Amino acid sequence: MELIDGKAIAAQLVAEVGAGVAALRARSGIVPGLAVVLVGDDPASTIYVRRKLATTAAAGMRSFEYRLAVDTPQAALLDLIDKLNANADVHGILVQLPLPPQIDPLLVLDRIAPEKDVDGFHPVNVGRLSAGGGGLVPCTPLGCMKLLDRVIDEYHGLNAVVIGKSNIVGKPVALLLLEREATVTVTHIYTRGLPDIVRAADILVVAAGSPGLVRGNWVKPGAIVIDVGINRIVGPDHRPIIVGDAVTDELGHARAVTPVPGGVGPMTIACLLENTLRAALSIVGEE
Ligand code: NAD
Repeated sequence: MELIDGKAIAAQLVAEVGAGVAALRARSGIVPGLAVVLVGDDPASTIYVRRKLATTAAAGMRSFEYRLAVDTPQAALLDLIDKLNANADVHGILVQLPLPPQIDPLLVLDRIAPEKDVDGFHPVNVGRLSAGGGGLVPCTPLGCMKLLDRVIDEYHGLNAVVIGKSNIVGKPVALLLLEREATVTVTHIYTRGLPDIVRAADILVVAAGSPGLVRGNWVKPGAIVIDVGINRIVGPDHRPIIVGDAVTDELGHARAVTPVPGGVGPMTIACLLENTLRAALSIVGEE
């Protein structure tokens, strides 16, 4: 079984994006800029934002950080988004989810200009993805496909099973697999007979947030498993550890598996940078 090294593949992508950023800067003086908005101080969100900003700098991009109080009124956040939409130095806008209860996330995502929507959550980009492409694609599903592309040349007719139907991961990754003409089954918490459905999979993408869900005897020999889950559990020595949704130790008979950590996670941030460069190129009319 091959462990797909998401960390190394992500580092390579960040370097490629960095080269693209340098080339754009050299020919036009434009430096892609990413605005990251964090409302409140949720510890996990704070860590994600810090990592995103650090990687942005590593790729030579500008970043603009907005930390708003947890009780920020919805109107104030919408006002900030309007300003960022109009700011020519900002090519990508990311509002870190989840948002506090006084703010409707759908309203916020709808307000971001689609061409700056580097998370790919705006209805225009969701529509473009379901119509076959051309828009900005959500970062985690994009990262999953880049990892799959390392081990699959031809998707035609392969059985792909997706566990989880969220707008952030499950649905968009299913659409991307369908676009490659795999035969896609999307499953969720109410799916009956999940182990048997998974046993038919050549490709399994699991994004359930359920540690230990996918056991070795669910996975057919030679299958490829992309484990999106990030679960904090108490480890054997009573310290917190991060695990995925699949029991990796039981997957020796798979063809390739992504580790957690070090698989999909690093790809998500690298794809955010790639989306920001794409957004900048498209805004300046180069793509
Ligand atoms: P979500 O809670 O929005 O959706 C989970 C989906 O899984 C739902 O459709 C639910 O029906 C399904 N599900 C849950 N338990 C199940 C079970 N026992 N059997 C079958 N289906 C089940 O979650 P999400 O935002 O899509 O995230 C999923 C996981 O991926 C989480 O662990 C999250 O932390 C992780 N995640 C990782 C990254 C990354 O960068 N690696 C990015 C986003 C999410």
